[in-house]
Amino acid sequence: MVFSRRQQEPIPEIETEVWSCVNHDCTGWMRNSFSFLDNPTCPLCQSEMKQEVRILPELK
Ligand SMILES: [Zn+2]
Repeated sequence: MVFSRRQQEPIPEIETEVWSCVNHDCTGWMRNSFSFLDNPTCPLCQSEMKQEVRILPELK
C-alpha cells in the first residue's frame, strides 16, 4: 500500500495582528498571540516593535 505524501490541504489565510520590527533592515516579527508583553522588543535586533496586520495562514 502506497500513501501519497502530497496531503497539502490549503490553509486559509486570515488577517492576523502581528508585532513588526521598526528596523527596516530587520525582518523580525511575531504573532500577537505569541507575545505576552504590551511592548515587546524584536528578538533579532532588540528594536521596538509596532503592531501591524498581515495576511497569514491560519493557525489551528
Ligand atoms: Zn528587529
